[in-house]
Amino acid sequence: MKTVVEDPQSQQVAIWTNKDHCCPYCGSKGFIKNGHQKNGVQKFICKGCGRSFSMSTDTVGYGSHFNIEKWTKFIECELNGLSHRKTADIVGIHRNTALLWRHKLYNALDYLKEKIKRSYLNRCQECLNQFQMAKKSTTAA
Ligand SMILES: [Zn+2]
Repeated sequence: MKTVVEDPQSQQVAIWTNKDHCCPYCGSKGFIKNGHQKNGVQKFICKGCGRSFSMSTDTVGYGSHFNIEKWTKFIECELNGLSHRKTADIVGIHRNTALLWRHKLYNALDYLKEKIKRSYLNRCQECLNQFQMAKKSTTAA
């Protein structure tokens, strides 16, 4: 079986918290602490859009009652192409939960794919700009 991560602790952050440390609704980095949820999780309120969130809002683990070990096992099952019923049996969750998690995981992967693509395109554009400026300076001389 393929494994998801060498170091589960490092992946815990990627799955469970908003790594950008910005408002998940408007992207603003201007937010302040705004009390705690019943389970003790720190809440924030955005100065830009006024919405409330935690660092797990809009992540794969948002609203999940299960722990990281189950999520890791679930992702390993997905990587190995198991059916959601088989995955549910292995992870120890209901088959409907396995389907829900699959949608959450694929949505998160789509988001990451777009983010990486934008970052790559930005770097390509920067390289192209530098190349064009260098070309201009050599032809002007
Ligand atoms: Zn906001």
